[in-house]
Amino acid sequence: MRKLVAGNWKMHGLGGSLAELQALKRGLGTLSCDVLVCPPATLIARAYGAADGAFAVGGQDCSPKASGAFTGDVSAAMLKDAGAATVILGHSERRHYHGETDALVAEKVKAAWAAGLSVIICVGETDAEREAGKAHAICHGQVAGSVPKAATAANTAIAYEPVWAIGTGKTPTLKEIENMHAHLRRCLAEAIGEGARGVRILYGGSVSPFNAAEILNLSEVDGALVGGASLKASDFLKIIAAIKPL
Ligand code: PEP
Repeated sequence: MRKLVAGNWKMHGLGGSLAELQALKRGLGTLSCDVLVCPPATLIARAYGAADGAFAVGGQDCSPKASGAFTGDVSAAMLKDAGAATVILGHSERRHYHGETDALVAEKVKAAWAAGLSVIICVGETDAEREAGKAHAICHGQVAGSVPKAATAANTAIAYEPVWAIGTGKTPTLKEIENMHAHLRRCLAEAIGEGARGVRILYGGSVSPFNAAEILNLSEVDGALVGGASLKASDFLKIIAAIKPL
């Protein structure tokens, strides 16, 4: 399976940050993986222009509604119109700070598909859930509740992002990552059947130029969702370069 390295800029980035995308474009050689950058919604159109086809651009969230009187919200069609190909949904920061439930994430996924976007659906346990031995059960519940049956390899990727590893510099052991990814593959098969085999399962949580090679070349890991280390082209390029050609 061709791997995917996706950058999540979160609420970082102004017009001046496009210089990082120009540097990213200059630094990309022959790609041995797919590359995606998800800047804030305000930068998507300009990022799309800067990428000029060298990498894909995505959003970080979308409304479950197609259009209407929802002040401040951004629809999936708007993201698509601005140049996005994909949208991240159900990120733990959305689940935590905005109270997003699995059911809402699933509604957003369907709205994104309807607009022609593919999705990256995030799942992952908190530290307390992990300590309580509930990590597998939590991720199982999130896949069952957030991934609609119509998910395919073409329209969906899953990102396993242990909440305690996001932005903390901590990561699970390689064995733990492999174990959870295999579990998620089984959860996906239960949710969507045969098609689960081709769906990419990304790892996210403190991926850096220092740990990218060992994490990204695990056979169960189909790519990465990268936060902080995606903001600087030089770091992001090192992560991309860590993927061995197929
Ligand atoms: C993220 O926000 O999706 C993420 C993985 O962040 P970081 O790489 O900074 O831990």
